[in-house]
Amino acid sequence: MDVPPRPLMSSCANAYLTPEHELLREQVARFLAREVEPHAEAWEREGRVPREVLRKLGEAGLLGLAFEPQYGGGGADALTNLAFTEALAASLCAGFVITVLVHTDMAAPHLHHAGTPEQKARWMPGITAGRTITAVAITEPGAGSDVAGLATRARRDGSGPDAPWVIDGSKLFITNGVLADLTFVAARTGPGRHDISIFAVERGTPGLRVGRALEKTGWRASDTAELFFEGCRVPAHHLLGEEHRGFRAVMKNFQTERIALASMAVATCRRAIELTLEHVKARQAFGAPLLDKQAVRQKVAMLDARTRAARQYLYHCAWRVAAGHDATSVVQDVSLLKALTGELVNEVTYGCQQLHGGMGFMTGTPIERLWRDARVLAIGGGATEVMLDEAAKRY
Ligand SMILES: Cc1cc2nc3c(=O)[nH]c(=O)nc-3n(C[C@H](O)[C@H](O)[C@H](O)COP(=O)(O)OP(=O)(O)OC[C@H]3O[C@@H](n4cnc5c(N)ncnc54)[C@H](O)[C@@H]3O)c2cc1C
Repeated sequence: MDVPPRPLMSSCANAYLTPEHELLREQVARFLAREVEPHAEAWEREGRVPREVLRKLGEAGLLGLAFEPQYGGGGADALTNLAFTEALAASLCAGFVITVLVHTDMAAPHLHHAGTPEQKARWMPGITAGRTITAVAITEPGAGSDVAGLATRARRDGSGPDAPWVIDGSKLFITNGVLADLTFVAARTGPGRHDISIFAVERGTPGLRVGRALEKTGWRASDTAELFFEGCRVPAHHLLGEEHRGFRAVMKNFQTERIALASMAVATCRRAIELTLEHVKARQAFGAPLLDKQAVRQKVAMLDARTRAARQYLYHCAWRVAAGHDATSVVQDVSLLKALTGELVNEVTYGCQQLHGGMGFMTGTPIERLWRDARVLAIGGGATEVMLDEAAKRY
């Protein structure tokens, strides 16, 4: 078949990306090629991401692009941040990607949105420099999708605004749970279903016990841990935002988190299609490259078409956030986006793995890793069904 070669991952122009975004994407791509991809296999085996690479990201100014410049952030808008997360998520080491994105787009935004100037001055410079790694602990053994069902409690030990808080309970599936220096913990502070508050808990706080890193199907370089709070005392000034307003904060932060997860899904689709095109052009079967089979090339083309459409929707959602559109309808869009991309990435990686034949089932091949890593994108940060309900109740 006489088809002129066409770069796929590099043909990423869209109406939202500026030349500055392209420069940022190139910077991230160079960082991945130099500091991440050569080590991905080892990190996956060891189940860890070294602190050193996170510090290097910080030194390069790539941790906390969206945070205030006076604390070392980049002061960037949601579109610039998306250009960063999508470029980072092109890595074949999703365990590394999620380690970074939990820090920048899921945990630290709690401090960015609700922290006082004193709290930001204390923690934000370390966060943007990669010296203070963050985690966010909401999920518990008895409550995941149903955030308001969480049972971890925080009570004041004494009266008055300076009385410390004492936290009791446990958290499950916490990304960066082992690595984190600072964890934003959601705990129940009152009798109402939504009486939840957020606390900043530092590594080594007496009463905080970090459990084992859990073994997982994918994201193996990322640590996912259990946390136990047993009479864990935190100073009064570690309460983030207003008392009982944590449920709202979690819902607000979910929008940033879900755009980051959707960018992982879209970037994974694009990598999978790129790898598959290389494979079906090179692999000979029945006397010709696989791509010569009409069924094969049409299948890849349809996966590509769906991915391109999802990518436009992803940028549209980030543009709406950047433009400050009405929160209710943005939540609907972001929920639909998360549902769409979480399912799409599973279909795309499955289809692409199929086209790799037996080789796609071999541990350690790039397509096998992409397929394993994709699975959780339809579960974590809001399962598909929950996302569809979030969107549907706003019709
Ligand atoms: C690798 C990994 C990393 C994670 N990192 C973090 C983290 O850093 N911090 C954190 O707090 N949490 C984290 N999580 C937790 C994650 O967000 C939850 O697993 C997710 O929200 C689903 O909650 P659950 O596992 O309790 O499933 P459940 O709430 O028990 O739901 C199980 C399934 O039931 C279905 N379901 C649930 N509700 C509905 C509904 N209303 N309608 C129809 N179907 C429904 C869905 O298919 C869902 O997948 C992580 C999870 C994983 C696997």
